[in-house]
Amino acid sequence: SYNGYCQCLSQVDFTWAGLQRIFEDYLEKEYFMTLAKVAAQRSKDPNTQVGACIVNQEKKIVGIGYNSMPNGCDGQLTWTGSEDGFDWPDTKYPYVCHAELNAIMNKNSADVKGCTIYVTLLPCNECAKLTIQAGISKVIYLSDKYNDTAVMAASRRLLDTAHIPYELKLNFDSINPSGMRNNAAAERDEEAEED
Ligand SMILES: [Zn+2]
Repeated sequence: SYNGYCQCLSQVDFTWAGLQRIFEDYLEKEYFMTLAKVAAQRSKDPNTQVGACIVNQEKKIVGIGYNSMPNGCDGQLTWTGSEDGFDWPDTKYPYVCHAELNAIMNKNSADVKGCTIYVTLLPCNECAKLTIQAGISKVIYLSDKYNDTAVMAASRRLLDTAHIPYELKLNFDSINPSGMRNNAAAERDEEAEED
């Protein structure tokens, strides 16, 4: 709302140092979320590619992951989702390891206590549990496209109850929808072909 916006602006420190801090904070989040997005590209899931990057309090990366089948199961289990009416045991859901699980399991430190996890999608309820039990103290996410599902309601309830803040990352890509960008790119390609 307009009032909310004014209130938000009134909290902004408009001094040079204040604006510099805001910019540095933005660049930092952009950097770690970009790494999560690059990790997501390694996922073999044809529908939902998710990446996660865990960062400690010294801003060092301690784990990266993306949704995958368990070790040794690649190519032997299906990536079928809910769309084709298969029974649960014949879909990916019982088997897939989410990006958050993989990032935590891939950690190169003793633990991930006090860390921030950057995830390209708001964690599901199972990953919210993992996040809490691993001692992660903050979640920054890029997309909440399943926000209205029961799974995400349960996830938010878990994170709220455990007092773990979750923050939607400022995303300038959403101002220029990818569809529009793709169309522009396609037009450029067509022009290039004509030449
Ligand atoms: Zn999950």
